[in-house]
Amino acid sequence: MERAYNFNAGPTALPVDVLKKAQAELVNFQNTGMSVMELSHRSKEYEAVHNKAQSLLRELLQIPDNYEVLLLQGGASTQFTMIPMNFLSDGQQGNYVLTGSWSEKALKEGKLLGATTIGASSKESGYTFIPAPNDITINDNDAYLHITSNNTIYGTQWQEFPSFGDTNVIADMSSDILSRPLPVNNFSMIYAGAQKNLGPSGVTVVILRKDLMEKTPENVPTMLRYDTHAGKNSLYNTPPTFGIYMLANVLEWVKEQGGTSGIEARNIEKANMIYDVIDESNGFYKGHAEKNSRSLMNITFNLPSEELNQEFLAKAKEKGFVGLNGHRSVGGCRASTYNAVTPEACEALRQFMIEFKNQK
Ligand SMILES: *Cc1c(COP(=O)(O)O)cnc(C)c1O
Repeated sequence: MERAYNFNAGPTALPVDVLKKAQAELVNFQNTGMSVMELSHRSKEYEAVHNKAQSLLRELLQIPDNYEVLLLQGGASTQFTMIPMNFLSDGQQGNYVLTGSWSEKALKEGKLLGATTIGASSKESGYTFIPAPNDITINDNDAYLHITSNNTIYGTQWQEFPSFGDTNVIADMSSDILSRPLPVNNFSMIYAGAQKNLGPSGVTVVILRKDLMEKTPENVPTMLRYDTHAGKNSLYNTPPTFGIYMLANVLEWVKEQGGTSGIEARNIEKANMIYDVIDESNGFYKGHAEKNSRSLMNITFNLPSEELNQEFLAKAKEKGFVGLNGHRSVGGCRASTYNAVTPEACEALRQFMIEFKNQK
């Protein structure tokens, strides 16, 4: 069977070589006579997988030694809660930059746990852009500044990451982590659910500057404290072992693609195939995001009418394209071109978009 042209927003495509490796090792992992899923999480074989995932993350993202690399559960959504629980103290506020639905969800959890403020927002415009750093209000009593590096639903992405002085910048990078090189030092914390660029769902990667953990109040429950997991190398309780094994294999694949700069070049090439069609279509395809805020990971666009959107999506489905519907909250079309989506899939979509337009 052929592989589908998978443009799902998440979970989404994994590299086929990674899937084949998992298949080959499934029943008997490294002569253990069992699969990774059946190993004890305290065994040396599993421990090697666990440490490999962490050390490859460190290597690929050039994470400095004063940061922890944690492998947690509960998805990025649980981080929305853990961040204010651990870092927001009395007299301080969580500062949120609103650039889409996921930022709103992060803010909602912050509000449940303490004081919050909105440093900047592009909501009025329908989240079509990323606010300029100079337009973001920073306050002395901000416990942290929370940003969403890539807005999965609206198709906008921070083009670069300024440093905000001493402010603790925390970034939800669920939909673009490892898609490009990253100045980790500009952040106090980075987190991501794995299911877009890193592997299957079930693992959440947290990169955390160690000194931040000193802020956690005594009464935060054990499982929801970063220091619990950091103190036990993310083995305080049973980790999602198979997901972490897949993560390690995906990271190895990224390394083979030339690391984050190799993957970035590939991502730019892929996204431009589709953005070029949009830009050269004389307004037939209209991008949702402003050009200077466009995402390399989620390409959002509309056709001239809702009827044409539906016809386009129906024809695309017939041709074997999966996942091109826009998010239910914004409609239209969205092509998610995460790391593992192949240039061939993007080329096929490019051609389909040109043909569809030419028939109209
Ligand atoms: C998908 C996504 C989430 C939600 O992740 P879960 O792991 O499902 O909780 C959060 N933030 C962003 C930016 C996302 O793309």
